[in-house]
Formats: sequence, C-alpha cells, structure tokens
Amino acid sequence: MSERFDVVVIGAGPAGYTAAIRAAQLGLKVACVDDWRDTQGGPVLGGTCLNAGCIPSKALLETSELYLLARDHGPAHGLRFKELSLDLTAMMAHKDKVVSELTRGIATLFKANGVTWIPGHGKLLAKNIVEVSGQSAQQLQAEHVILASGSTPVNLKSAPFDGQRIVDSQSALAFKDVPQRLGVIGAGVVGLELGSVWRRLGAEVVLLEAQENFLSMADEQVAREALKQFTAEGLDIRLGARVLHSQVEKNAVTVRYQDKDGENEESVERLIVAVGRRPNTDGLFAAETGLLLDEWGFVHVDEHCRTNLPNIYAVGDVVRGPMLAHKGMDEGVMVAERIAGHSTTVNYDLVPSVIYTQPEIAWVGKTEQTLKSTGESYRAGVFPFAANGRAKAMGEASGFVKILADARTDRVRGVHMVGPVCSELIAAAGLAMSFGASSEDIMLTMFAHPTLSEAFHESALAVAGRAIHLAQPRHPKT
Ligand code: FAD
Ligand code: NAD
Repeated sequence: MSERFDVVVIGAGPAGYTAAIRAAQLGLKVACVDDWRDTQGGPVLGGTCLNAGCIPSKALLETSELYLLARDHGPAHGLRFKELSLDLTAMMAHKDKVVSELTRGIATLFKANGVTWIPGHGKLLAKNIVEVSGQSAQQLQAEHVILASGSTPVNLKSAPFDGQRIVDSQSALAFKDVPQRLGVIGAGVVGLELGSVWRRLGAEVVLLEAQENFLSMADEQVAREALKQFTAEGLDIRLGARVLHSQVEKNAVTVRYQDKDGENEESVERLIVAVGRRPNTDGLFAAETGLLLDEWGFVHVDEHCRTNLPNIYAVGDVVRGPMLAHKGMDEGVMVAERIAGHSTTVNYDLVPSVIYTQPEIAWVGKTEQTLKSTGESYRAGVFPFAANGRAKAMGEASGFVKILADARTDRVRGVHMVGPVCSELIAAAGLAMSFGASSEDIMLTMFAHPTLSEAFHESALAVAGRAIHLAQPRHPKT
C-alpha cells in the first residue's frame, strides 16, 4: 500500500522546500522527495541554491572581498597588514560550514513543521502517484504534486565539462588552489561572480562572452558603468567572442574562439563554463502522464504555476521566468496557498535581480531601454555615490542609483543601481514599487544620515530636479 499525502513535492531546493513548509503550515500532510547528495554521498536538503549556488558563492565572494579590502584598500584607510596571506583551505572550510548549517536548518524546519523528507529520485506517474527510487524506494499517493526539480548547468559541445580542467559552477566553488590563469565562458551572472572571486584571490581572469552587449538584461547605463569598473579590477572581458573549440592538455586548456578580429587562442589553467542552466526534466515524469513541456524544455505552467494536468504544479527553475531562488520561493508559497484554497499570486513584474560583484548591481522593474522601446514616457533621476557621505567613508564611492518614473503619473517604473551594497538597497525600491509608490512618495520619506540609502532618496529628488547634493540644471520651482 502506498502512503497517501495531501502534497508531494519533488525537489528540495528553495522553491520545493518553501512550498513544502508553507503547505505543512497550512495543515496539509506533506512529503518532499529529493535526490541531492553531499560530497560524502549523504542526502542533504537545499538543492542547488544552498549546496552549489547562492550560498557557497556568497561565502566565497564575502571572504575574497575581505581579502581584497585588506590587501588593496587597507592602506587608503591607514591599515597595513605586514603578513597578509590567504589560507584557501580555511576559506573553503568556512564556506562548507555555512552551507552545512543552513542545509541542516532546513531539515530542522521540516521536522518542526511535520514535513516528511524522503531522500531519492522522484518520478510522477499517472493518477498522481510519485514513484521514489533509491534507498527509500516506494510509491506515494498524492492529492497534489509540486514539481520543483530545478536546473543544471548547460554543457557546451565546444568545451565539454571534464570535471578537472573544464568545469561547471559547482566545481569552480571548490578549487583546491588559485589558478594562475582562469578562463570563463559566459560573462553572465555566474561568470562575473565566480570570475570576481578568483580574480580577487590573484588569478588572471579572461571572460569570453558571445554577445556584443555586456549584461544585456541590465539597464544599459548600469552595464556600461559596471564594465568600466570590472575592467579596472582586472577582469579581462572579451565581448562578441564565440568559442569554437577547446583542447585539454596536461596542465592547461587551450580555447579557440572567434571575434570581430578573427580567430584567437587562449591558454588557461582552468576553464569555467557558465553559459546558462537548463531545466531538470529527465526522468521527472512518465510519458503516459501527458505532462506538457514548453518549446524551451521547461514544464509548461500558467501564471499560477498550474501545469496542464489537474492538481499538478511546477515551480522554480524548472518553469519559465528568471532562474532565481526568491522567484522560486514566492512561487512555492503561492502554490501551497492556492492548494489550501487561498488566491495568492506572484508579482512577476517586481522580481529583483542582483549581481553580487564589486560593485554590486541590482535592479527591479523596467530598464530605460525597455521604456524607450515601448514608447512609454518617463523621467529619470540619477544620483552618484560619489556625492554620498557614507559611500565615501567606506571608500566605495563609484556607481549610482537611478529611478525611472512615469512622466504622467510619477509612478516608479524601475530602479537601477550599481555601487556598494546595492543588494540590500534594492529592497527599499521593491517595497516602494510593490505599494505603487511615486517618486514623490520616496522623496517625501525621511532616510537616515549618513547612509547609502540616501542615494536612493536623492535619486527620487533628482527625478524632479531637486537633489540637494547634486548640481542639477535648474527646474522651474518644483
Ligand atoms: P534547485 O535549487 O536546483 O533544487 C532542485 C532540487 O531538486 C535539487 O536538490 C535536485 O537534486 C532535486 N531534484 C531534481 N530532480 C529530482 C527528482 N526527479 N527527484 C528528486 N529530486 C530531484 N539565485 C539567486 O536568487 N541568488 C543568488 O545569489 C544565486 N546565486 C547562484 C550562484 C550559482 C553559482 C548558481 C549555479 C545559481 C545561483 N542562483 C542564485 C540560482 C539559484 O540557485 C536557483 O535559481 C535556485 O536554486 C532554483 O531553485 P529550485 O528550487 O527551483 O531548484
Ligand atoms: P546567464 O544566463 O546569467 O549568463 C550566461 C552568459 O553566457 C550570457 O551572457 C550568454 O550570452 C553567454 N553565453 C551563452 N552561450 C555562450 C557561448 N557559447 N559562448 C560564450 N558566451 C555564451 O547564466 P549563468 O551565469 O550560467 O547563470 C545561470 C542562472 O543562475 C542565471 O539564470 C542566473 O539568474 C542564476 N544565477 C543568479 C545569481 C544571482 O542572482 N546573483 C548568481 C548566479 C546564478
């Protein structure tokens, strides 16, 4: 006899574990099946985000930034370290500790909420049966199933992963030494974050990006500023570079690529391939279920994450939309609450994006180029961190905050930032926009002095030509 559950979730990454916990909070009987294994081969919760994504990358970014501050920026603050050295083993141990504390935390939350954790591979069969293979092989009968199987790095034919010299993001989070010369294919979010980590630790880093435009999803003004600063930090970013072939040799990888100047070759000690991720759907469902995938191979869902099958939902990286942990978490909550009879929705217009480099890049809402292309009239207010006291005290006064507000209604349509701690500052923008704020609403709010958030305030003032710490063209008495 198979055990019956109100909800069976397949996948315990941020989308799946959040759905499981929320459904259990709402009084439903929930099981969560997950096949992630840690380096010792034991089952572990948290999926890509906790084990090989958001969390370990941020631990390495944090430590490498501290190292950079001490090494390169300390003297400007009057701090000199005579014998500064890097202990990579300790740095990795710190990262592993953070990961294991957080993944064990999810197990504790499952226990506290009464979610049954079933390690193993889950497959959706007809009639809402989930077959679990592996050590805990069994069949589960589910009233509702939530597919949250996440995504995997895309493997390039011209540079296939070999786990040693040509690696994916997961392996690049666990190098045992700092490569002297590191190649990265793809100057997207993973390429920039991991390229930054190894650059700060001393590697020469070359990024090969196929597109001519740098960070095409970001606001163009932000992308231009970021490219300038990354280049100054020593990231060698080559745009319009198409990789043709790579050859693994004893201690190096030779990459052949083409750009506007013709064919070129680069020899690197290691090569990270970070050209995007694809949804995990292999072995996720039996063909006779009739589950529909979209043209890109994602599980097809509507705006409420309902698949084409009754009572079967899908959330997170396995469905359309940005591959971001917080987007998946919100979808997990929405689905759990809808199963429990609520009418929760996700506001897909306000998913914040953050790139945790130095400077940090963050935005929410529409970019200036999108507003232009759709012919929406807007007013922009830009405020540089160079005029912000806190940023200057930190020694991180480059970059800016930009607010785009509707020219007629003044409602904020987008906020774009590049500079210090923008990952945190963007929350205020998201909050304001979720309440439908106008730039005047932000203008009329008091911000503590001296804080970085004053740059957000001043950019709202700048929309009306009223920024205090900026010489702006005079506006007629606004
Ligand atoms: P996942 O986290 O991929 O989890 C899916 C889980 O399901 C996995 O445990 C998988 O093993 C399991 N699974 C798959 N198929 C089955 C099956 N059939 N049966 C059982 N289990 C199965 N996002 C951010 O928002 N912020 C960041 O800072 C950030 N940093 C990142 C850094 C890196 C290096 C990478 C690679 C990604 C980063 N991301 C970040 C993206 C983020 O990790 C993903 O968007 C997020 O993990 C997606 O969550 P998910 O629950 O949909 O899937
Ligand atoms: P990405 O889509 O962010 O970037 C991939 C880059 O590779 C793009 O710039 C693309 O033009 C380029 N590219 C594609 N094919 C190429 C080729 N053949 N040669 C050279 N360049 C090529 O993907 P990613 O960086 O792998 O990240 C995967 C996902 O993980 C993203 O969707 C991202 O949202 C998520 N992620 C988020 C964060 C964060 O929120 N801070 C951090 C890391 C990853």
